[in-house]
Amino acid sequence: MKNDPFLNAQKQIDNVAKFIEIDKRTLAKIKQPDRVLKADLKVKMDNGKTRIFKAFRSQHNNSRGPYKGGIRYHANVSESEVKALSTWMTWKCATVGIPYGGSKGGIIVDPKTLSQTELEKLSRAYMRAFHKHFGAFKDVPAPDVNTSGVEMSWMLDEYEKLVGHQEPGMITGKPLELGGSQGRTEATGLGGFYVLEQLTKAKKLNKKKTTIAVQGVGNVGYWFIEFAKKAGYQVVAWSNSKGGEYKGKKITNEELLELPVDVLVPAALENQITKDNAVKIKAKYIIEMANGPVTPEADEILHKKGIISLPDVLCNAGGVTVSYFEWAQNNSGYYWTKDEVFAKLKEIMDTAFKEVWKIYQSKKSLPVSGGVNPRTAAYILAVDRVVKAMRLRGR
Ligand code: NAD
Repeated sequence: MKNDPFLNAQKQIDNVAKFIEIDKRTLAKIKQPDRVLKADLKVKMDNGKTRIFKAFRSQHNNSRGPYKGGIRYHANVSESEVKALSTWMTWKCATVGIPYGGSKGGIIVDPKTLSQTELEKLSRAYMRAFHKHFGAFKDVPAPDVNTSGVEMSWMLDEYEKLVGHQEPGMITGKPLELGGSQGRTEATGLGGFYVLEQLTKAKKLNKKKTTIAVQGVGNVGYWFIEFAKKAGYQVVAWSNSKGGEYKGKKITNEELLELPVDVLVPAALENQITKDNAVKIKAKYIIEMANGPVTPEADEILHKKGIISLPDVLCNAGGVTVSYFEWAQNNSGYYWTKDEVFAKLKEIMDTAFKEVWKIYQSKKSLPVSGGVNPRTAAYILAVDRVVKAMRLRGR
C-alpha cells in the first residue's frame, strides 16, 4: 500500500538506525508492536438491534515504562493506523523523557451517528474486551480523536468494577472531579509555546518582530496563540475549518500555509504540507502542533529549502506530559496547583528542546541523506533511549 502509515513508521526507524548503535534483532523488534489486540464489540443499539464494532489496541514498546496512548473513535481507524500511532507514541514519550512506552487504540465508528447511551455502552464494551491489558503500571489510555473526559470516565468506572478496586492512574484525560490534572486543557498549546520560546533563544529572534501564522484554532491552536500573544509575538494570521484571516483580510487555509511569516504553526490536521505545496512555503520555521502535518516527501523539500521544521513528537508532547503528571498525582494521591503543573511542564519541554537541538546542530551538515533535520534528530534521541532501555533489560 502506498500511504500505509505503519510502513512509513517502519521506514523512519530504518532511517534513524543509521545514526545509532543497534543490532539487527533489536531493530526488527522495534519495527513491530509487542502485541496488537483486536475485538468485535457487540452493542445493543437504541432500536433494539445488535451492532458489531471493530476495536484495536496496539502496544508497541514498554521498555521505558507502561504503555501509553489514546483511544480514538473514527470511521477511518485501521490496524495499520493504530500500529503506526503506537510506534510514534513510544518515540514521543522517549523524546521528552517521560517514563512511558507507546500504545494506541481505536474503534471503527462515526461517533456522531450514536446516541449518548450507545456511546456509553460502546466505551464500556471496549474496556471489558481489553481490561486485562490495561492498568496504571501496564497500559494507560487517554482521549484521542473524538474522545474526551466523558468516555474516559465511563471506561474508568467499568475498569474499576471489573478489577474490584479504585485505580485512577489507569487512564488519563479524566475530568478534574475524577482525578484529572490542573492545566491539562492548556498543556499542549503551552508546551508548543515553550518550544517557540526556546527556538527564539537558540536563533536569537526578536519576539516583538517575529510574525506567526496558526492553522487551526481548536484547543491546541487557541492556547498556543494566547501564550504567544501574551509574550509579545505577532500572531498575524489564524484559521479554522471555514477559512482564516491575515491582517484583517479573509484568506483560505491554503493561502495561510504560504504566507510570508517567520513561524508557521499547523495545529489542525495531518498531511497539510505535502510535496505539492512544500515548495511554496515561505516561513523560516515550522512548529508542528498537529500530529503529522508534514508528509515525509514535504519534509525533505523543506529541509533542502533551509526551513527548520520542529517535529510533532517534540512540539505537541505537552499533552502527554501533563497526562504523565496526572498519572503521577493519581498514583501518589497528592494533587498539584496549576502553577506547579506549568513550571514542571516548562522544565520538561525546555530540556527536550535543548537535547533535540544539540543533536540537530551536530548532525545537520552530515553528508548522510543530505544532513539530519530536526525530526530525525528527535528520533535519534528517542530511539536511542528505547534501545538502551531494552539492552539494560536484556531484551
Ligand atoms: P480541535 O478539534 O480542538 O481543533 C481542531 C481545529 O482545527 C478546529 O479549530 C478546526 O476548525 C480546525 N480545522 C479543521 N480542519 C481544518 C482545516 N482544513 N484547515 C484549518 N483548520 C481546520 O483539536 P485539537 O485538540 O486542537 O487538536 C489539533 C491537532 O493537535 C490534532 O492533530 C491533534 O491530533 C493534535 N494534538 C492534540 C493534542 C491535545 O492535547 N488536544 C495533543 C497532541 C496532539
